[in-house]
Amino acid sequence: MTHVTKGDVEACWIWTGSKNHAGYGSFSIGRARRVGAHRWAYENLVGAVPAGLDLDHLCRVRACVNPAHLEPVTRRENLRRGVRTEHMAMRTHCPQGHPYDEANTGRTGTVRWCRACKRDRNRQRRQAQAGTLSNL
Ligand SMILES: [Zn+2]
Ligand SMILES: [Zn+2]
Repeated sequence: MTHVTKGDVEACWIWTGSKNHAGYGSFSIGRARRVGAHRWAYENLVGAVPAGLDLDHLCRVRACVNPAHLEPVTRRENLRRGVRTEHMAMRTHCPQGHPYDEANTGRTGTVRWCRACKRDRNRQRRQAQAGTLSNL
């Protein structure tokens, strides 16, 4: 690796090559797809990342490629740890206080929504329509 300042295990190894839009080091291997520099470092120095897992930066330094600072985690765990999405994934209740449990949680892709709130909205819409009609 040429684009890295290698230090000891505790220090972050800062990737000084190109970075992707998210601030992670990345580069191309031949004509192949671009790979994350931290993933490449981990796979070469530690081993394959188990299928379905993402590498989480324990040090929170995205440009860091020190494998000692990387831990394979599930995407869900990675999102949960992420600062920006933390409150989203950890939320156990909708803004109206309904629980996000199995029965009450609808999903569209990865987005969760509250069935109770949807019921309320539908009811309000029906009431609004009924009100409009009775005012005619
Ligand atoms: Zn680090
Ligand atoms: Zn709700």
